[in-house]
Amino acid sequence: MKNGPKPIAMYRNTLEKKAEEVRRSMSAQKAAQVVARLDIPSDEGDLSQQHHEEWIFLNRNSLDMKLLREISDSLLRIDNGTYGICMECEEPISAKRLDAVPWTKFCIRCQEAADRHEFETESLEELLANAA
Ligand SMILES: [Zn+2]
Repeated sequence: MKNGPKPIAMYRNTLEKKAEEVRRSMSAQKAAQVVARLDIPSDEGDLSQQHHEEWIFLNRNSLDMKLLREISDSLLRIDNGTYGICMECEEPISAKRLDAVPWTKFCIRCQEAADRHEFETESLEELLANAA
C-alpha cells in the first residue's frame, strides 16, 4: 500500500513535531523587547528603518502564532475525526496535500478558491509566500 492513506497517527506526530519546532523558533523575549521599544521615541533618521524591522519581526511572529493555531486546530480535528476533510466542500483532502501541508483545512481546489478570495478565509500559505 505505497500510495494509500497514511495512518492518522503519523500526521499527529508530524503536527506535534512542527508545533514544537515553531514554539522553539519563536522568541518571546525578543517580542517583548520590540513591543517595549515601540513606546520610546528615537532619532528621526532611524525611525522608519526601525519601524520597518519591527513590522517584519512582528509580522513573522504573528505568522508563527497563526501556524501554531492552525496546527492545534488540526490536532483537534484529529481528535474529533474530521482531520483530512476539507472544511469548505467536505471532500477528503488528498494525501499528497496533507503530506505537504499537514495542517491544511482545505482541499487544493478550495485553497485555490480561497487564494482568489472567493470565500472568506486567511491563507497561511499566501502569507508565508508574501513574507518570504
Ligand atoms: Zn474543498
